[in-house]
Amino acid sequence: MVRTSHNTRTMIMEYMKTIDTFISAQDVYTALQTSGKSIGLTTVYRNIQGLANDGELDTLQKDSEILYRKCTTTTHHHHLVCVSCGSTQEIHDDLFEQWNTSIEKATGYTNIHHQLELSGLCEECA
Ligand SMILES: [Zn+2]
Ligand SMILES: [Zn+2]
Ligand SMILES: [Zn+2]
Repeated sequence: MVRTSHNTRTMIMEYMKTIDTFISAQDVYTALQTSGKSIGLTTVYRNIQGLANDGELDTLQKDSEILYRKCTTTTHHHHLVCVSCGSTQEIHDDLFEQWNTSIEKATGYTNIHHQLELSGLCEECA
């Protein structure tokens, strides 16, 4: 059987749907191996990066590592990540977007992008 890139992507997305924390490509690879999928580490890296580039997965930079997560929404949002267990909530707060607009007004810049990640202790870990 020829395993196309499309199938690999589907396989990765199916797995990511079951995870609500940010995980590394290495973690995805390990999980797929454990569940009996024969798929190379390089293939996982390439496909997961492709999914992130296409906006299918969100990314988070943690130390030197890039972590990935399938979010329930594709619209612009922020993340609140628990530093203890890694569980993640999506944050939609107009305050951040109003701040963005006021910076644009003040500087004359347009298309200002911002990335803002919040971290703390979730209710379970507090
Ligand atoms: Zn997200
Ligand atoms: Zn927690
Ligand atoms: Zn924002």
